[in-house]
Amino acid sequence: MITKERILEVLSGYDSDRLCLATVCSHTSLQIFHGAKAEGIPTIGLITSQAQRAIYEAFPSAAPDEFIEVDGPKGIPYQELADRNALLIPHGSIVEYAGRGLEDAPVPVLGNRQSLIWERDRRKMFEWMKAAGLQTPAILAPDKIDRPCVVKHPGAKGGRGYAIVHSPEEFESKFGGQDVMVQEYLTGVRAYPHFFYSPLSKEGYRAANGHLEMLSVDRRLESNVDESYRTQMAGVPIKPSFTVVGNEPVVMRESLLGDLLEMGRNTTEAAERLFGGIPGPFCLELIVDENLQFYCFEISARIVAGTNIYPEGSPYSCYVFGEPMSMGRRLAREVNVAREMNKLGKIVY
Ligand code: AMP
Repeated sequence: MITKERILEVLSGYDSDRLCLATVCSHTSLQIFHGAKAEGIPTIGLITSQAQRAIYEAFPSAAPDEFIEVDGPKGIPYQELADRNALLIPHGSIVEYAGRGLEDAPVPVLGNRQSLIWERDRRKMFEWMKAAGLQTPAILAPDKIDRPCVVKHPGAKGGRGYAIVHSPEEFESKFGGQDVMVQEYLTGVRAYPHFFYSPLSKEGYRAANGHLEMLSVDRRLESNVDESYRTQMAGVPIKPSFTVVGNEPVVMRESLLGDLLEMGRNTTEAAERLFGGIPGPFCLELIVDENLQFYCFEISARIVAGTNIYPEGSPYSCYVFGEPMSMGRRLAREVNVAREMNKLGKIVY
């Protein structure tokens, strides 16, 4: 992995008046471009075809100022971006498809690129969750499966290919020999809070060396499990699958907000101890059971697609900011604040 010192060197060569934000046109990029426009920062959108350009031009208020066509997700022109004073914003598609190249990319990435390693490796992620004191589902060895379990492939492919197994035999017949993780299947209500950690000020809810904001909450719409009550009523048996197709808003019972904030704070503080912190957005994927106990089965250490529901703000962001504030805009705002304070080095790696 390229060193932080090297990235700070690259950053020191930037003309801060000509700073821009770049990301791949996918995942949360509409929101990122829209938010950057509101904050007055120019944007570059990376596309893989002219057809994709047409899609983004269909949304003029959220289209990037400039497009660069690239060969594919692995072909991000990191050096060209650095030559153009760009900060790269990592989102789910970049993390999943850019591969290891991102680790050595000679361009400042918003946030801490170390966190991408902790997110990619499920075992490391569980280590992080444990260090944060979060309750997690049990991880079982395949020959010890004694309850319904969800089997996950490595990486964040939006739940694709997950399956439920009930016994070692069923596991062997479906996944024998594959590199997968077996998690206890949790029952309860899903809630995915979206946090923003800023190391630039200690105002508000203190966490690690800065403060934490909770901007919104979503849950995902997954095919076919989220419509299974209909198939059941229609007498059509299905095998549950968990492919993410969209998101819907969630507002939590107000008495649970303290728990959410505390889990968010503990996650930032564990990140600080383990790999130097997570400036910027992150999300905890939680299931709340009937005793109001929270279980975390995943951390996304970057902007998540659930924030796309709230381009003009959410039922929480409006209590943090007296103006419309999406996660994309919050990112751009942080860049402006850091630039003003001459502390961009604190929010990139
Ligand atoms: P993930 O790729 O880990 O975000 O999981 C995709 C979806 O699978 C989640 O949004 C949940 O609906 C479901 N899921 C993942 N892990 C579990 C679990 N341990 N128990 C129950 N459902 C889960």
